[in-house]
Amino acid sequence: MSMATSGISQVLVLLDRVNESLTGAQAELLTIAERLGDVSVVSGASAEAAAGPLSVKGVREVYVGEGEILPPDVALVDLLETAVKESGASVILGTDTPDAVDALARLAVRLDAGLITSATGLDTDGTVTKSVLAGERTTVSRAAEGPLIATVKPNIVEALLEGGAAPEVTALPVKPAPGFEVLETAELPKSGRPPLAEARVVVAAGRGVDGDLTLVEELADELGAAIGASRAATDAGWVHHSAQVGQTGVTVSPQLYISVGISGAIQQKAGMQTADVIVAINKDEDAPVFEIADYGVVGDLNDVLPQMVEELRARKG
Ligand SMILES: Cc1cc2nc3c(=O)[nH]c(=O)nc-3n(C[C@H](O)[C@H](O)[C@H](O)COP(=O)(O)OP(=O)(O)OC[C@H]3O[C@@H](n4cnc5c(N)ncnc54)[C@H](O)[C@@H]3O)c2cc1C
Repeated sequence: MSMATSGISQVLVLLDRVNESLTGAQAELLTIAERLGDVSVVSGASAEAAAGPLSVKGVREVYVGEGEILPPDVALVDLLETAVKESGASVILGTDTPDAVDALARLAVRLDAGLITSATGLDTDGTVTKSVLAGERTTVSRAAEGPLIATVKPNIVEALLEGGAAPEVTALPVKPAPGFEVLETAELPKSGRPPLAEARVVVAAGRGVDGDLTLVEELADELGAAIGASRAATDAGWVHHSAQVGQTGVTVSPQLYISVGISGAIQQKAGMQTADVIVAINKDEDAPVFEIADYGVVGDLNDVLPQMVEELRARKG
């Protein structure tokens, strides 16, 4: 991805949540934004939560609401709209998550602008590259009118953030969202694995695992990977639906995607074929997944996975 080392635009970055430390995808997005121009951030986090992790070089200003804003509360869109006016942003970026896409799509309507989702490249001339038609082609587009609004896929640049002074945090008043109210929020138990859409390594399970995720989980944990799945595996209830990779699931583009017992139907490929390196393990040498795999292992996953885990453990000493 080519970008100049300094920019002139005002860039607004939406980080719908900010935890104790930035995720890899958030750090990448800020790296891209910093090279494009002066960066302001909009976050649904509280002012106290946002300041620490966003004390990085290039981030000047952070806009939050008066109190935490959680999707689907559209107050985040009000906040974005105000922040665009305050910052004069001509480029507005978000991570490629459903909540960021939802908020930025609503913002695009309010600003009468376009939205480009799942960008895989973003240049200083305002052009945006994305993969389309289930990965068969790429398009390069730009916003014809108004600001450029885009969500950017993870794992496309190296996150290079330096620590910096604490940004100025501005808490803006937000109206209660019309139409619905958030009745309850709860924290889900943490798996200890990285979020699927942002993970640098994904181990994905298909029907071939026959309901037993033990080996896939062992391999994933050796690699610090997220677990993905084919629709056959999620429909069978072996893996939660949120882990489905593909046309009707999550799109991932990790550095390494290990496909285990997945045939490689077009709908599965659509969600993972932009991975840098694809390793496929399948006992059928004619499985379509081998057409896009960089490395293929023809064999029973119950033989192959233990050997991989053993080798990884041996290398770690
Ligand atoms: C509108 C639509 C949307 C869809 N969206 C998605 C989507 O988002 N994501 C998705 O994944 N699918 C999606 N599908 C379903 C898709 O068409 C396939 O049915 C699905 O991907 C198949 O899952 P699978 O590869 O796990 O199962 P299968 O096709 O049954 O393949 C199982 C594979 O495991 C191998 N295998 C079996 N046992 C072993 C073993 N012991 N060791 C090694 N290999 C073994 C077999 O050789 C086989 O290749 C969609 C379908 C439709 C119609």
